[in-house]
Amino acid sequence: MERHEYDVVVIGAGGAGLRAAIEARQQGKRTAIVCKSLFGKAHTVMAEGGAAAAMGNVNPSDNWMVHFRDTMRGGKFLNNWRMAELHAKEAPDRVWELEAWGALFDRTKDGKISQRNFGGHEYPRLAHVGDRTGLELIRTLQQRVVALQQEDEKLHGDPEAYIKVFAECTITRLLKDGDAISGAFGYWRETGDFIVFDAPAVVLATGGIGKSYVVTSNSWEYTGDGHALALLAGAKLINMEFIQFHPTGMVWPPSVRGILVTESVRGDGGVLRNSEGRRFMFDYIPDVFKDKYATTEEEADRWYNDQANNRRPPELLPRDEVARAINAEVKAGRGSPQGGVFLDVSTRLPAAEIIRRLPSMHHQFKELADVDITKEPMQVGPTCHYIMGGVEVDADTGAASVPGLFAAGEVSGGMHGSNRLGGNSLSDLLVFGRRAGAGAAAYVDGLARRPAVTGIDEAKAEALAPLERTGGENPYEVHHELQRTMNDLVGIIRKSEEISEALQVIEKLKERAKNTASSGSRIYNPGWHLAIDLRNMLLVSECVAKAALLREESRGGHTRDDYPGMSAEWRRKLLVCSANPDGTSITVEEKIQPSMRGDLISLFERSELEKYLTEEELAEYDAAVK
Ligand code: FAD
Repeated sequence: MERHEYDVVVIGAGGAGLRAAIEARQQGKRTAIVCKSLFGKAHTVMAEGGAAAAMGNVNPSDNWMVHFRDTMRGGKFLNNWRMAELHAKEAPDRVWELEAWGALFDRTKDGKISQRNFGGHEYPRLAHVGDRTGLELIRTLQQRVVALQQEDEKLHGDPEAYIKVFAECTITRLLKDGDAISGAFGYWRETGDFIVFDAPAVVLATGGIGKSYVVTSNSWEYTGDGHALALLAGAKLINMEFIQFHPTGMVWPPSVRGILVTESVRGDGGVLRNSEGRRFMFDYIPDVFKDKYATTEEEADRWYNDQANNRRPPELLPRDEVARAINAEVKAGRGSPQGGVFLDVSTRLPAAEIIRRLPSMHHQFKELADVDITKEPMQVGPTCHYIMGGVEVDADTGAASVPGLFAAGEVSGGMHGSNRLGGNSLSDLLVFGRRAGAGAAAYVDGLARRPAVTGIDEAKAEALAPLERTGGENPYEVHHELQRTMNDLVGIIRKSEEISEALQVIEKLKERAKNTASSGSRIYNPGWHLAIDLRNMLLVSECVAKAALLREESRGGHTRDDYPGMSAEWRRKLLVCSANPDGTSITVEEKIQPSMRGDLISLFERSELEKYLTEEELAEYDAAVK
């Protein structure tokens, strides 16, 4: 079997994985980057709107404290505050670093990196490249990897001496020596041949879980692999009940349902209307945001040119609020013909400006739906977009509870609390990708001996099982039923009976998945790949459903019809998922979050905190501000 030895193996080549790998290599570690898609094809490349960083280029009042406050508000104060603090403080440096590595951001008139408005951000904060920011981010990080390889060629006569990419290679198991990580096992997608990495440190950067839902902005790689690999290795997941349904996915034609319509459309002036032509978002401003959002169309429109003297348009409320509002309008019979609502930029900006600012959106609608967004509105509706939940990590180092395991990016949990603000993911990848790479390098430095790889035979047998069964179930059918179940029963609005029903279905699907068979050989066999991925999607869906059932309140990306309010008691609690030793079932336990540090909590007004915190926490606040 093909075998490689590295210091650090990074699983995933999106923004988080590449930034982690660059850091580990810069710290002198022999680093492998493994990705199941082609190198360069990750979700990061699809990111449109931008990376949030309080550089203050467009509005000098912006700074890390305002960004920190916005992030905590967006996450409804459930965020890991240390992560939110590090993120807000370090994001500007990470964006400037990208620029130094060759990223070409859009500019302000005076030549600084331009920043755009986005939902939940008080000031224009998203560094962007038109609506193709993720592409530039990935291009720059890949270019940096190549630059490091060129350095290695000069130093060691081999460009891959210290950093090597293994593309179209899927990891199916993490390997351990006792409690500690010792490597990873996987297969080449093209040949089906197996591959083993011996490495004392593994960084998970595998992204999200969207493919457990039917309507999603995510593509085929998002099968929750990293989440499941972590669980099976003994790590814990937090916040799994919080899933972001982006308010604006395409709803028509059916073949492209769920594909994202960037929030920049609203940030740049686009408005949402129902079938009666009403700008309905004014009817959905929740109490906690009442003083921050315009209450008339006139004020909202003035804001685009004068942000100091007007409040923001309600179309720019955090995503969970907008998604719920669209859902309510459609349910009330005021939706668009194809079951969404209208998003109109055509009457708001000149055609040339729309094409300049939103080239991908113009192209996407023209090509996929035959709609010219400079002339007519788009039809949009909520789509499963992002999971706030993920591997529980140490904020400073990205370390999971299993020695040698690290996680960064969408696969990690805590940073975004119950709801992520748009633009905060790209900056999260850079800030915590770098920290996880450094954390892994420091961990390797501290080891007295390299751990030994065990468990290869078991991993191989598990991977081969679907090919060795005859007459078993079709994996596509099991997958489709899981997607429908999660969409219909653990979707944007949830209730106890429906979540319980979903859990019963998941139990049955787990049994059926054990019996799936794929015909054909190991050579490029997508049915076999899906049969392997099903284990991950089922484990992750069980976490989502079990945590969603336990959390009896509504907050951010978790809305319970039967518990519509936010509860201060629940805000303090994290739901922590772990797998039982044989990996067949999930247990969820409550854990109390530590109180926010005094200097951070005093950045907020007491009147705002009263909406979120318990009396006990408010007493801590009073002590901190004295
Ligand atoms: P990814 O970029 O998805 O990378 C995951 C990597 O893991 C891939 O290389 C994949 O092949 C690999 N992988 C997965 N499983 C395995 C396995 N088992 N073995 C080996 N490799 C594996 N966020 C913003 O901040 N701003 C935006 O404007 C924005 N726009 C978005 C637009 C769209 C359409 C989407 C879908 C998301 C958007 N987001 C945006 C969210 C953001 O893009 C993602 O959250 C982020 O890119 C995730 O990065 P990542 O590095 O964690 O994972």
